Amino acid sequence: MTDRITRLRDDLIAWFERHQRDLPWRRRRDAYAVWLSEVMLQQTQVVTVVPYFERFLARFPTIADLAAAELDEVLSMWSGLGYYARARNLHRAAGIMAQGGIPTRAVELRALPGLGPYTAAAIASFAFGEAVPVLDGNVARVLCRLEALELPDDQNLPDLKQRAEVFLDRARPGPFNEAMMELGALICVPGDPRCLVCPVAKHCRAHALGLEKRLPLARVRIEKKPLHLACGVVRDGDELLLIRRAEKGLFGGLWELPSVEVDPNAPTIDVKRALQKIGLDARSAKPIATVRRTLTHRLLTMALWDCVATSKTAWREGRFVTEADWPTLGLSTAMRKALEKVTTATR
Ligand code: SF4
Repeated sequence: MTDRITRLRDDLIAWFERHQRDLPWRRRRDAYAVWLSEVMLQQTQVVTVVPYFERFLARFPTIADLAAAELDEVLSMWSGLGYYARARNLHRAAGIMAQGGIPTRAVELRALPGLGPYTAAAIASFAFGEAVPVLDGNVARVLCRLEALELPDDQNLPDLKQRAEVFLDRARPGPFNEAMMELGALICVPGDPRCLVCPVAKHCRAHALGLEKRLPLARVRIEKKPLHLACGVVRDGDELLLIRRAEKGLFGGLWELPSVEVDPNAPTIDVKRALQKIGLDARSAKPIATVRRTLTHRLLTMALWDCVATSKTAWREGRFVTEADWPTLGLSTAMRKALEKVTTATR
């Protein structure tokens, strides 16, 4: 073991002990809190996650409570956080753990629904002290800079995994992993790292070479694909028809206005035909409103069509609900906006 890495670990952990943020999941380091927080933090900012985490734990204080809950309630508590597959997997994994106990090793945790290598390593090292490195986007960026790696961080993965193993403090794997993640979140940030206040600057190769702003090289950006939906607004008095989506895929398991994907340039007659195929008859020549949302990988446009239902067998599970029912249903933020538009358009 080189002196450089030994001193880097000591400096990093000493900094973390003094400067770490006071976050609710750091007040209890049991496997459930680590698991829940890490799943919520995937693709989501800390400031957004904090109130969700606190509400979720207040409602489901233990894994057994989560396992015993209805999926609809779990999805409704998740409503607004996005990536709803996370909530469905959380619920399924809770069911398995409530029966068989919580695995303590990363390799066993990875067998649970929705637990990838990163989350499994976080739980195993933070809650059970297993010596496995955590390699998320923040840690990958820090490692690229510490080692002055030129390639974009995703192309470096095998190399990064090996280096993450070398850097890991095996006597203190949990604090070390958390400190690396915190350094990436607060100091070694994308674009313009704060090297002047960095606790490991004297061990950093990119900083020594003046390359810290260039590394890691930018990834190729993936274009967001447009997704155009024609949504049917079917009323019964002050109730609206919502159907539940299939479990898999975008917004899986959530409730929505019955919808069908259409070509953005399709003439009205084709949109009406597409709606007929899902058991709906559009009553006017144009939509009553349009909602646009930017999702992580899609640019979503929803055109809301006033419809009557012509078939009750076109969907698996449907029910008429009032506005008062919305909080009890799993709804995506996009669908909530659509329902608000429908409500305001008819007032
Ligand atoms: S010195 Fe700069 S580039 Fe190196 S780890 Fe610290 S913040 Fe990141």
